Amino acid sequence: MAAFQTLNRDELLKIKDELEKEYEKIKGLGIKLDMSRGKPGKDQLDLSMGMVDALASDHSFVGEQGIDCRNYGVLDGIVEAKRLLSEMIECPIDNIIIYGNSSLNVMYDTVARSMTHGVMGSTPWCKLDKVKFLCPVPGYDRHFAITEFFGIEMINIPMNEDGPDMNMVEKLVSEDDSIKGIWCIPKYGNPTGITYSDAVVKRFARLKPAAKDFRIYWDNAYTIHHLYDEEDKQDHLIEILAECEKAGNPDMVFKFCSTSKVTFPGSGIAAISASKANLEFIKKQLTVQTIGHDKLNQLRHYRFFGNFDGMKEHMKKHAALLRPKFAAVLTTLDRELKDADIASWTNPVGGYFISLNVHNGCAKDVVQMCKDAGLVLTNAGATYPYGKDPYDSNIRIAPSFPTPEELKDAAHVLCVCVKLATVNKMLT
Ligand code: PLP
Repeated sequence: MAAFQTLNRDELLKIKDELEKEYEKIKGLGIKLDMSRGKPGKDQLDLSMGMVDALASDHSFVGEQGIDCRNYGVLDGIVEAKRLLSEMIECPIDNIIIYGNSSLNVMYDTVARSMTHGVMGSTPWCKLDKVKFLCPVPGYDRHFAITEFFGIEMINIPMNEDGPDMNMVEKLVSEDDSIKGIWCIPKYGNPTGITYSDAVVKRFARLKPAAKDFRIYWDNAYTIHHLYDEEDKQDHLIEILAECEKAGNPDMVFKFCSTSKVTFPGSGIAAISASKANLEFIKKQLTVQTIGHDKLNQLRHYRFFGNFDGMKEHMKKHAALLRPKFAAVLTTLDRELKDADIASWTNPVGGYFISLNVHNGCAKDVVQMCKDAGLVLTNAGATYPYGKDPYDSNIRIAPSFPTPEELKDAAHVLCVCVKLATVNKMLT
């Protein structure tokens, strides 16, 4: 197939006719497919079934510190869980608090606390006229939902190949003290799959924000979620907490992580990592909020993995299941869309998503057409604050849940819809 841009009107009309027939055929098949949410597949969940038995097979619930994990207590997590997650998120064991089952919950709490009580002594944000967050786009809809919920104004920051546009970030945070944060997914980002370069991380650490209570919300959700076992096929991210300390900005970052996509989403363990000063401030609230999180869950995670090496081995099993799924989508996109030259997409080496950019003004149509044909995709616009993609171009593809066979079918449906929506647009 020739590049669509090179075709004349008659040629485009002919293609439109063929695509419409193909689309009607697909609609008649009554398919039911879903590439919308980044959920692990059942086969991935099965990998962690040993965790269900990790406590049952060993009736001691007493951890290393002599704490009976069945009882109340231990605000910031048992040492076994701290060790495991501090290695996962690459921070000293004294710079972490283990929370409950969800890092998104920790992020919500972090913003909520800043609204009501400020950040380490600053004015509570709810008392300020304006609070703003920078949002690299495309990004994660649930980050944007948190800031929108609290009435925080969101400013789009374009993403480059190696991370957010740092010229823009530096300028904005140094000039405007109502900017209190930036959402970052620094490794295998959702949805781009991009990992920030060393230079970008260093520029983050050296920011000179006008607001003292500005923080980088560093959501390292996919820190060990490589698709390949070979080191040279993996992305490497430099550790920002240490970089911030070196740059004289020790308190400027909150790092978040969880084992949601390591063990069981919704039943994993989450953590925040930050400077000791930040953690002390957080604990003042935490001690009012809870007597302690689920230590049995922390203990069974530790018993299941043994140590961080065990966790890394476990991630290789996830990767083996995910690779063919990404391949199924990427090969189909290559085969069916490349020559037409009407879309671009990422080819990530980790994480859970592929980011597809279609012809400007076509994303909504593509998603709707897919839906009408039985394929559910993430809503167009979801990857932007307020659900508004200014170009109506970005579509997030989540290949983890369906089987590789289903993904081939789903990607074909998607490609037909991308082509048809583009031809329609070009003919108007
Ligand atoms: N952060 C990112 C970037 C995600 O993509 C997701 C889930 O898709 C989450 C956080 C949710 O994490 P948790 O299950 O720990 O709340």
